[in-house]
Amino acid sequence: MYTAIGYAAQSATTPLAPMTFNRRSPRPDDVAIEILYCGVCHSDIHQARNEWGIAVYPLMPGHEIVGKVTEVGANVSKHKVGDLVGVGCMVDSCRHCEACAADLEQYCLEGPTLTYATPDRIDGSNTMGGYSNSIVVSEHFVVRIPEKLNPAAAAPILCAGITTYSPLKHYGVKAGDKVGVLGMGGLGHMGIKFAKAMGAEVTLFTRSASKAEEARRQGADHVIVSTDAEQMKAAAGRFDFLLDTIPVQHDLNPYLETLRFDGVHILVGLIEPVDPALHAANLVMKRRVLAGSLIGGIAETQEVLDFCAEHDISCDIEMLDIKHINEAYSRMIAGDVKYRFVIDMATLKA
Ligand SMILES: [Zn+2]
Ligand SMILES: [Zn+2]
Repeated sequence: MYTAIGYAAQSATTPLAPMTFNRRSPRPDDVAIEILYCGVCHSDIHQARNEWGIAVYPLMPGHEIVGKVTEVGANVSKHKVGDLVGVGCMVDSCRHCEACAADLEQYCLEGPTLTYATPDRIDGSNTMGGYSNSIVVSEHFVVRIPEKLNPAAAAPILCAGITTYSPLKHYGVKAGDKVGVLGMGGLGHMGIKFAKAMGAEVTLFTRSASKAEEARRQGADHVIVSTDAEQMKAAAGRFDFLLDTIPVQHDLNPYLETLRFDGVHILVGLIEPVDPALHAANLVMKRRVLAGSLIGGIAETQEVLDFCAEHDISCDIEMLDIKHINEAYSRMIAGDVKYRFVIDMATLKA
């Protein structure tokens, strides 16, 4: 066993604090990783505070992990000691169901093992995430970080990146398509970059006109202020796809009206129940599709990392000393981060 250190919440109401714990010795198909960077995702806050009602304590968040391989099990062939690798939201799945067989482990019929706060499939121990100096993960769930990428800025690609890339890819966004991105946080700003790299004409929908210049800097061609009824009306029937990254409940109806016939509105946030209610006519009368999408499979996670290397895409980040993690949570809730905090794990040693 390894002795590891990290930051964990001991209950829904206690701030994250340092903790010493054990990581398992690598099993034959495991890779042991020294964590260098870990992105901070909004899910981490929801889970640390048990806002989804599924938290298990102690809870050590972190599922945007980049590090170096320090040890490999006897059967490992994908990675070797010294490789720069990543771990995202999942560390295991059943590996035999229809979804797993189709490289869609995120939809595993038995449920994937999440990177933190989920029982390990073999020994039942509570998984501990990446706010730590190390992690041990089965090689299938470990991806390669391309050399061209800045390793710290690559970390958020493992959740924020794949979550926005996967649906754009699945629905076949291509050159000339008109794509609207709703919201410009950690996910939205990545969505703009991906849609643009796929050749789409990209529009940011935002509540604040003040974000227009920044949206263009991120690659958006146009900006629509969603609170301006005139601008929304002028956009009616224009879009092929909407990538909806708004993390809180909002009225989908005005957005659906901006889709052309056969247009697809993709939700990536868990905003249930949809409120206010959806007008069925907004779907029926134009054969529009309201779709959902969850992260991406492991093969696709490797694909998005390679896509980022090829198209020179990375996440805009602010480096974080792990001592300031609780403060960072407050700033994220206030929307005060451009666009992702990434913990520099060297600060854990200090
Ligand atoms: Zn996440
Ligand atoms: Zn499965």
